[in-house]
Amino acid sequence: MFEDENYGEENLLVSTKTEYDVEENVLRPKVMADYVGQQKVKDNLSVYIAAAKARGEALDHVLLYGPPGLGKTTLSHIIANEMGVSIKLTSGPAIERSGDLAAILTSLNDGDVLFIDEIHRLNRSVEEILYSAMEDYALDIIVGKGPSARNIRFSLKKFTLIGATTRVGMLAAPLRDRFGIVNRLEMYTPSELQEIVTRSARALDIAIADEAASEIARRSRGTPRIANRLLKRVRDFSMVKGNTEITREDARFALARQEIDELGLDETDRNLLRALIEKFGGGPTGLETLAATINEDANTIEDVYEPYLLQLGFIARTPRGRICLKDGYIHMGMQPSAKARRQMSVFDLDD
Ligand code: ADP
Repeated sequence: MFEDENYGEENLLVSTKTEYDVEENVLRPKVMADYVGQQKVKDNLSVYIAAAKARGEALDHVLLYGPPGLGKTTLSHIIANEMGVSIKLTSGPAIERSGDLAAILTSLNDGDVLFIDEIHRLNRSVEEILYSAMEDYALDIIVGKGPSARNIRFSLKKFTLIGATTRVGMLAAPLRDRFGIVNRLEMYTPSELQEIVTRSARALDIAIADEAASEIARRSRGTPRIANRLLKRVRDFSMVKGNTEITREDARFALARQEIDELGLDETDRNLLRALIEKFGGGPTGLETLAATINEDANTIEDVYEPYLLQLGFIARTPRGRICLKDGYIHMGMQPSAKARRQMSVFDLDD
């Protein structure tokens, strides 16, 4: 059901964590000081951690949300580390029955962290067990059926739940309201990503020129997981060429070979923009229709591809669907039609 270091990733329908990566642990910063960026989140969490420790209490429950690969799992490890407690990791889809969750909860010690990834995908009956567990540190179990059914309450150790989600809007209000600390992780700036690439290169014993690290950073779509993945692929190309240090040319060559463009867009991003422009006149087009057209999963588009395209201002979400914006057309080397321009102005998105 869960292990201490890894959890049922194969059960996750939507995940960019596709390959089990032995280097992953080497790359994860272990202490707050090594966790790059997210300054506000780090500052606030450090205060809450220090205060909880001073009071000798468990940290309040924490909800972390934002696109995949931004460091939610990493930050949860750091929180447990700084609190000096153990962490157990599981995920919403991996907990199938309320009994599974009960078994996890009763195994926790005082102050321990339980990390539930993709918490928006917990099923309802499992989720309901969490309410009293989070609020009263109690497990309410119904024993028996019909008129003789009784509610038995078990007490739990005071633990900290850290929930991570890419879809905060999909959390039921009673669950969301039980988190005392709610933080949204932001996409990283190119200079923060450069710092991450440089740090990861050091951890993996790879020599890399600053301009190469910056080239990778610029094309990592604001996401540390992508930055680390690109670094490893660029390293492969550079090694095969027999270089001892990754140069800017190596980085450019390797990224071009993977069809990752100057802004970090890949084939799927470009297919999406092209379909939106060529097949739907720039939109508005519903997510499902767009997904079916480019043969991609709608959840993957929403979680993985759209956040960066929205951030770049290449597309917009409107009540009637997705539309392509001027910068999206420019990037694809195309011109919006008069009708597409009218659409942008209808939604006040044409500047
Ligand atoms: P999420 O749980 O949000 O999907 P992860 O915590 O698994 O993301 O992060 C993916 C990878 O990116 C980690 O292995 C880690 O090496 C790296 N990473 C994430 N955030 C940071 C950060 N702030 N500083 C340095 N590396 C980071």
